[in-house]
Amino acid sequence: MSSSTAPARLTVLAGPTAVGKGTVSADVRTRYPQVWLSVSATTRAPRPGEVDGVHYLFVTPEEFDRMVDAGEMLEWAVVHGRNRYGTPRRPVEEKLAAGVPVLLEIDLQGARQVREATQAAGLEALFVFLAPPSFDELVRRLVGRGTEDEEERTRRLETARVELACENEFDVTIVNDDVHRATDELVSVMGVGRSAPVAG
Ligand code: 5GP
Repeated sequence: MSSSTAPARLTVLAGPTAVGKGTVSADVRTRYPQVWLSVSATTRAPRPGEVDGVHYLFVTPEEFDRMVDAGEMLEWAVVHGRNRYGTPRRPVEEKLAAGVPVLLEIDLQGARQVREATQAAGLEALFVFLAPPSFDELVRRLVGRGTEDEEERTRRLETARVELACENEFDVTIVNDDVHRATDELVSVMGVGRSAPVAG
């Protein structure tokens, strides 16, 4: 049973590359503004349409090093063997302290770090695995996105194979067969009420 008076908590959404984590979190942002989406720092270059400070904080490798060294990252990882991605710690802590439900959309290595950090701190966190309807569907989505070259696609599919095998580490699995449905299930397991207007 979900309740609007449930305490705010940290939810981690992970899953294989191209499963649609970004689409589901964008849908959360649009339809459930009461959930705060963490903005990750990354050393990768922006894709067309991506806005600094909205989709990511696009930082130099030197700035990323500085943030890590200063203890500013809740977690960070090298994803697909190439770029670094990390969750700035302070905004997450501030939102949780203010009673706002927080969603992190991160990779599996990051999810493991958050599990260790929250266990060590005695904090409650919910770990959600977003799964594709099938591996073939995952390949179709990755090729269809068309934003990566052949070498990068191969690299990401290798990562995806490993990540799919890690589903049992998570509290909940949500199958991304339909974006709105998956989003609704996600916010339901987060304990967030359906008070926002449903758009599009
Ligand atoms: P993309 O380059 O396609 O935006 O993201 C690549 C991968 O990086 C995705 O699997 C995404 O979940 C992951 N990612 C994004 N932000 C973070 C973060 O802050 N930490 C970690 N560990 N992974 C992240």
